[in-house]
Amino acid sequence: MPSAPKLCPCGSTQRYAACCGRFHRGLEEAPDAPALMRSRYAAFAVRDVAYLWRTLHATHPDRSRPEADVTRELRAAVSQFHYTGLKVLDARAPDAQGRAQVLFLARLFRAGKEHSFLETSDFLHDGVGWRYVGGEPLPLAAVQGDPERLTLDTLPAHAPRR
Ligand SMILES: [Zn+2]
Repeated sequence: MPSAPKLCPCGSTQRYAACCGRFHRGLEEAPDAPALMRSRYAAFAVRDVAYLWRTLHATHPDRSRPEADVTRELRAAVSQFHYTGLKVLDARAPDAQGRAQVLFLARLFRAGKEHSFLETSDFLHDGVGWRYVGGEPLPLAAVQGDPERLTLDTLPAHAPRR
């Protein structure tokens, strides 16, 4: 893992160690779905693939594959990207089934080319902590106007919703 950044990559403007670093070190669990989302983005940025694996919900498809294969692929992928910022745009508290949702804009670049995207992610608490179930990404090119103004209720209609 590269040396830890001073400022947390999740965009909180807090020190990394006092922000998502606490969750990455396993000292505590992210208290809610938006915090878990932020900590996962920060884990991509600091290349903490073990944390990315640990915060996948048991129902996530990658969880049915060997951990070594998934983390090797993650390590190869994250090393190619430059993670330049996260904006959590909207969040929905857990529904009757316990599913929480977060809409975010993730900024990332590969070889100078922007690969930023919007995603509506689903999260469930597994009794230990909040976990990532899956998400519906939406390329920025599909959005008209300022993507940072989108909410879960104003997402473009063609974005698949569950
Ligand atoms: Zn953070």
